[in-house]
Amino acid sequence: MHDNRQLVEGRLARFNDERVTPAVYQAFAPVTITAWTVPDEPVPFADAVRQKYSPIDIGTAWGKPWGTMWIHATGSIPKEWLDSRGRLPRGLATELLVDPGFTGGPGFNAEGLVFRPDGSTVKAISPYNAYVPVDHRQPLDVYIEAAANPDIGISGFRPTALGDKATAGDGPIYKLARVQFALRNTVVWELQQDIAVLGGLMHALPVDLPRRHEILRAFERMLDIVDPEDVAGTAAAGRAALADAFAKPAYASAHNLIAVGHAHIDSAWLWPIRETIRKCARTFSNMVDLMDRYPDFTFACSSAQQFAWIKEHYPELFTRIKAKVRAGQFIPVGSMWVEADTNMPGGEAMARQFVAGKRFFLDEFGLDTLEAWLPDSFGYSAALPQIVKSAGADYFLTQKISWNQTNRMPHHTFAWEGIDGTRVFTHFPPVDKYNSELHANDLAHAQRNYREQGVGTVSLIPFGYGDGGGGATREMLAVTERVRSLEGSPTMELGTPIDFFRRAEAEYPTPPVWSGELYLEIHRGTYTTQANTKQGNRRSEHLLREAELWAATASVRAGVEYPYAELEEIWHLVLLQQFHDILPGSSIAWVHHDAERNYAAIAGRLEKVIAAALAALSGKGSGRGRKALTFNAGPFDRDGVAGLGAGIAEPADEVVPQKYRRGYVLDNGVIRAVISTKGLITSLTDYATGREAIAPGTVGNLLQLHRDIPNQWDAWDIDEFYRRNVTDLTTVESLSVDGDEVVVERVFGKSRITQRLRLAAGSAALEIVNDIDWQESQKLLKLAFPVDVHADRSASETQFGHVFRPTHSNTSWDVAKFEICAHRWVHVGEPGYGVAVANDSTYGHDIGRRTRDDGGTTTTIRLSLLRAPHYPDPTADLGHHVLRVSISPGASIADAVAEGYRMNLRPRTVRGTESSVEPLVRVSNPAVVVEAVKLAEDRSGDVIVRMYESRGGKAEAMLTAGFDYSSVECTDLLERTTDGPVTVGAEGAITLRLRPFQLVTLRFAT
Ligand SMILES: [Zn+2]
Repeated sequence: MHDNRQLVEGRLARFNDERVTPAVYQAFAPVTITAWTVPDEPVPFADAVRQKYSPIDIGTAWGKPWGTMWIHATGSIPKEWLDSRGRLPRGLATELLVDPGFTGGPGFNAEGLVFRPDGSTVKAISPYNAYVPVDHRQPLDVYIEAAANPDIGISGFRPTALGDKATAGDGPIYKLARVQFALRNTVVWELQQDIAVLGGLMHALPVDLPRRHEILRAFERMLDIVDPEDVAGTAAAGRAALADAFAKPAYASAHNLIAVGHAHIDSAWLWPIRETIRKCARTFSNMVDLMDRYPDFTFACSSAQQFAWIKEHYPELFTRIKAKVRAGQFIPVGSMWVEADTNMPGGEAMARQFVAGKRFFLDEFGLDTLEAWLPDSFGYSAALPQIVKSAGADYFLTQKISWNQTNRMPHHTFAWEGIDGTRVFTHFPPVDKYNSELHANDLAHAQRNYREQGVGTVSLIPFGYGDGGGGATREMLAVTERVRSLEGSPTMELGTPIDFFRRAEAEYPTPPVWSGELYLEIHRGTYTTQANTKQGNRRSEHLLREAELWAATASVRAGVEYPYAELEEIWHLVLLQQFHDILPGSSIAWVHHDAERNYAAIAGRLEKVIAAALAALSGKGSGRGRKALTFNAGPFDRDGVAGLGAGIAEPADEVVPQKYRRGYVLDNGVIRAVISTKGLITSLTDYATGREAIAPGTVGNLLQLHRDIPNQWDAWDIDEFYRRNVTDLTTVESLSVDGDEVVVERVFGKSRITQRLRLAAGSAALEIVNDIDWQESQKLLKLAFPVDVHADRSASETQFGHVFRPTHSNTSWDVAKFEICAHRWVHVGEPGYGVAVANDSTYGHDIGRRTRDDGGTTTTIRLSLLRAPHYPDPTADLGHHVLRVSISPGASIADAVAEGYRMNLRPRTVRGTESSVEPLVRVSNPAVVVEAVKLAEDRSGDVIVRMYESRGGKAEAMLTAGFDYSSVECTDLLERTTDGPVTVGAEGAITLRLRPFQLVTLRFAT
């Protein structure tokens, strides 16, 4: 037989484009449209409907960036579309087609939501999904809220003024292209879907497979049968010609896909939060509408916050969603408040993501969600398995690690083991995306890519437009109907994430194990970009700790009402801003301005909560007899005041700097630091070991400026080659002493930095306050401490513990970790000696080592202080920053843990009549750290205490509660009773026996 394959494929392509597609809509008719432009920020439907609407023509330019226009569309279906009895002939459907002037794909440009006159939502309008079903028996009367969301240009990574309303301009950016009735031929539409699915499969198959040619010949017969002059009249016959090809079942060993509708809606990113709320309403309206038409359609939806927005702003839609949840179609997943970043949130905040998320799903839907769903966050901390399990969830899902630039993960389904040994059953969908359109190439890729071939047979495929919203479409559901069992394709069935996980776990009971973090080998700049947002997060987490601790203490000790609602509201806002494009710094300027404003408001509110509690605890007396009472919210004793309690402090004075070799020395008898004329640390010793921490031939406190121009993803990425260009900032503008501080001033580029070095009496940590006016462009500022330590690995604080990473670069996995995330401290050490560097604001670090000519090893700890990327916020990081850092020579990991708390929690002194406040709990072993003291989520007044083993070893501790309680039990993070490592003795003595990094929550019934 002669080979005419390409000729037939070309014939099919042209016939589909020029004959089939234009025949889907066989008639159009006008509707009457009027419009009202919203002056500024969006308004609710109830306000919009009351406005005065003016006529508008198709072709009219509309919509300043971020503006909104409401369109009122009315009219009746033309009589000639109906039969003599007013019925719509079979095979036809009436629709309204709306095109506000789309310029690209869904989620990244104009979009709209259609309302009925009663304010209920119909469905959304977005590219590839721009129809509204219309009942031909009723006159049309709908309102379309059209949003002029600008395209921020994610493909080009060019600086744009569009990300801030103040700079985005006022000119219209869209041209109204279409609002009209359309008559859809459903048979032609089905033929179009047949061609899409079978044609896609044909092209995805190798040309040497018989199946490919079988499909080709079926298409050839279809092309002969369908009349190009009468596609509508012959489409059914054309479909029949393809029926045999569709009837062939999948191979017995075909991979199995469980398809779940999805719309990964970023809670803020290239749009502000207020737009996300509308994006959720649009997408969810679409999904509910689709569920009405496709009863098998399942849609997984994460983020309790997004449901909460709908509950607040679109109650009618929320009611319909609730019904679909009950029907098992709308499936809340993820167990979290938002799809958070997991590198940076502190331990308690990460726990609260699950507490707030799961509580919402339990309260609103009665559903105990069992999976963590984080398809898009930028790497996954090694503490997560324990946190997921402690929240009562069993499964974890992501696909982001497929973005690795260097290494390919060896597994798609595996047991993921955290720092404490907890394992969680984990899946990476091998389709490598969370927003598949279910094209045959995606299905083939999932089957080919799946790493568990031969032992596992099933994977999950989330489908639906994501990021900016959209979700599933009827075209995607047409695929699911056609590929249930189709030769050459993996099988596919609609299901739920839990269906998938249970099936995968049953067929793969002993999956391979991945231990430690799921480090994402890209987006390493997200530990540093938008320093103000990161600092706001860190401050808020610690203020929340203080507020809960003191409010709980005041409640127990003084009967003060606990501010449940206030704390919950603030937690929700802090948790929202840990979303994976806010805390990582990868959003437009608008989002980060909002975040900074929110953090300032949060601080104000929490200070009030704290002040009220401290006032109640310190006693209200006045005049003589009032004492300075110091409250220590940290877990360890400080200045003579017990951790978690208050007392009369014996504050340590700062040491006065002394002149030394034209520079200065700070010496408190515990450590000694020599600061050179250039403001650099030339010597740092601790008296206990007598060892010099600064490596020979190097200096500490060295600021280094790098070029920082990644190839793409500016706010997200630091590319490895940044290290090739570095300027050491050693030129001093001035060196002086101001009171207890050595002050170093440097000027570079357009920027200025003032460093204040100080040392408190008795402290083993030299503190450096970096006050920076940052006016650089595409630069990375690092602060380096080269230390004389031979360390194979560094320790970085993560949630409820720390993670080790190699300091060398043996393997491609080690090489890829050239920038790492740490919370409050990092530590490098040899047996018996180490150095800790702590911070109060930053997360990005790099730690490497080299062998010197003298044979010794220099291990260099560097903090990433600031960046200045141009996209998506061209002003990211510019301005004033105060970033505190400390270095502790001779420090153990236990010292590092303590210093991390010390740097981030300042004692508070208030005057009152009391001379002490007894801590609610005391723990006998400092390895066991109290992370939270609060009252119970159920508002019963029970006291909740959360602790963890902090050093990576087994620990036994006695816990003493300083208040009356009727019983104590272990709970999960949601404060539900569980088994736990706690025994209560006859005398009420509470003994904890914790494994390394074990997390434990205790509930004291009062
Ligand atoms: Zn995302």
